[in-house]
Amino acid sequence: MRKPIIAGNWKMNKTIKEGVEFVAAIKEQVNNTDVEVVVCAPATLLKDLKLAAEGTNIKVGAQNMHYEESGAFTGEIAPAMLKELSVDYVVIGHSERRQYFAETDETVNKKVLKALEVGIGPILCVGETLEERESGKMKDVVKVQIAKAFADVASDRASEVVVAYEPIWAIGTGKTASSADANDMIAFIREEIAGLYNDNVSEAVRIQYGGSVKPANVEEIMNESDIDGALVGGASLQPDSFVQLVNF
Ligand code: PEP
Repeated sequence: MRKPIIAGNWKMNKTIKEGVEFVAAIKEQVNNTDVEVVVCAPATLLKDLKLAAEGTNIKVGAQNMHYEESGAFTGEIAPAMLKELSVDYVVIGHSERRQYFAETDETVNKKVLKALEVGIGPILCVGETLEERESGKMKDVVKVQIAKAFADVASDRASEVVVAYEPIWAIGTGKTASSADANDMIAFIREEIAGLYNDNVSEAVRIQYGGSVKPANVEEIMNESDIDGALVGGASLQPDSFVQLVNF
């Protein structure tokens, strides 16, 4: 039985004060322990969010990290630095990072491996562009992203990776993939993972959908057979909306 996971991705939003107030506003309303609740915040908030979330059902994620342990990488944050803050998850390979910050399948793979090594749960983002979908290549694209991201991930660790299928054309656009299309791709990703490992791993791995998820569509999405959660940008920024998502 896979535990659903609803994760908010705040992107480059919220000060420490705003983040701590958000946690205070939602914590009593997201105490259903049948759902894993994660907020992925800018690095400046992580320490205070972990403190604010102590004793609650809320886990805290970072939005990126470097794969090297230390060194001349100005502006980057090392895995051990996140671990020191007891961060639970880290988003890896979000399409905005791939698009604006030159993340590649190779760097994504290094980050996934490093996150597992230090004990931070990777939330691995994959997904196709509109052009790739319209030309019918979406499964080929996602297949390669999955194979490269999981390269060298041991089979006894692979199910610790949370995969987020996020079609790029649906992120922040208000356009959602139909729940059937999202489920079809997510079932395909599960099959690919079975091919890379085995059925036990593919049955255990959690795969989220992301792309304009909101209170009005979350229930339909979560009712699909293979969708285990959502990675949510815009609709995760307001406490009342996030609470509705978690309580789908
Ligand atoms: C995201 O940031 O991963 C995302 C899916 O954003 P939105 O929900 O705003 O489309």
